[in-house]
Amino acid sequence: MITKNSEKLYRRASGFMPGGVNSPVRAFRSVGGTPLFIERAKGSRIYDADGNEFIDYVCSWGPNILGHAHPSITEAVKKTCDTGLTFGACHKGEIRLAELIRRHFPSMEMLRLVNSGTEAVMSAVRAARGFTHRDKIVKFEGCYHGHSDGLLVRGGSGLLTGSVPDSSGVPRGYTDTTLLARYNDRRSVESLFACDGRNIACVIVEPCAANMGVVPPSEGFLQFLRSITKRYGAVLIFDEVITGFRLGIGGAQAYYGVTPDMTTLGKIVGGGMPLAVYGGRREIMECVAPLGSVYQAGTLSGNPVAVSAGIAAIEELEKAPEIYDELERKSAMIEAAMKEAGLRVNRCGSLLTAFFTNEDVTDYNSAKSADTAAYAEYFVYLLEHGIYTAPSQFEAMFVSAAHSDSDIEATCEIISKFQGKGR
Ligand SMILES: *Cc1c(COP(=O)(O)O)cnc(C)c1O
Repeated sequence: MITKNSEKLYRRASGFMPGGVNSPVRAFRSVGGTPLFIERAKGSRIYDADGNEFIDYVCSWGPNILGHAHPSITEAVKKTCDTGLTFGACHKGEIRLAELIRRHFPSMEMLRLVNSGTEAVMSAVRAARGFTHRDKIVKFEGCYHGHSDGLLVRGGSGLLTGSVPDSSGVPRGYTDTTLLARYNDRRSVESLFACDGRNIACVIVEPCAANMGVVPPSEGFLQFLRSITKRYGAVLIFDEVITGFRLGIGGAQAYYGVTPDMTTLGKIVGGGMPLAVYGGRREIMECVAPLGSVYQAGTLSGNPVAVSAGIAAIEELEKAPEIYDELERKSAMIEAAMKEAGLRVNRCGSLLTAFFTNEDVTDYNSAKSADTAAYAEYFVYLLEHGIYTAPSQFEAMFVSAAHSDSDIEATCEIISKFQGKGR
């Protein structure tokens, strides 16, 4: 595979951006090589600066459930552009998008539009704290909730003590109120509540974890979180930035039948534009300014162009509800091909990860047991056969409605013939 042009662009980019990238997941650090520069994308395909064509299973890390450059979305965006890119004032589209969201996420009685998942989560946590007048939050090891200071905590074993930030530049004091629990481990949550339950404002969780690779919740785990938060008067936040509109049109909360107090959405809800949402029970959201004392604002929040993309995406999903059964069927085919190749797979709907480990992956520790060098070999093999997947073991493979049966069959054929080590 020739990547001369990408390499040249990468050298130029590296003079401007740290690591040549605008988000570290795009760097190929953990798999070797240099990132590909993408020139265009359509449907299930992306094309790089050297003219290489790939079947894309990154799908912009989740937003493109309808594939790249879906005509309904691009049409809506073009039309909206002609009437103004941003007003910094109210417009009708905001109401339409809010209506669509609440129709499928009835637990989001009130909501706010923001610009990124990071912002949505940061704001939701602030509202939960303002509502409960409590400071502490519980998050799970291996769950990612964006890059705001207090949530950049993952590792560390100090379950009952304040946590150590993952990133330098985060003062220790900013994460002192972040308590860490283990995904799928009820006891780790119970002991945090037993110790400090009346000071815990919220529990935030990815209802199906997808940022340590895909790790589904064990039977009853989400129900357990629902009941323990209720018992202690803490807010349960589902971070559905990935799962929202993906596991089904009603997200993980409909898929698993568990209703949180607050929800964050991102990725799909913006149709490929920068847009995210937080919302929840009316009494919590009424704490947000200008109704309440929890401050949160945004110059470009509810941006008309992004809103029109989000509306178009959700309307498409409403029009073709069979998409979700199709995604399930296609993803199951890929899962079967991975198993045929001797790989261990976690899958939840159209999110899946092949883990290079001999352990069942149920939490952060077992995910970390994966052999990242073996994954790198797998990644390079797929790339060289025209399949673009995440350049990291700890990410999901995203299947979209634009992946045709022949795309899926070709993908399965290639995966099932993988001969690398670490199987
Ligand atoms: C991607 C993601 C975020 C962060 O969203 P950005 O738009 O990248 O800021 C937060 N939570 C989850 C679960 C995500 O997958």
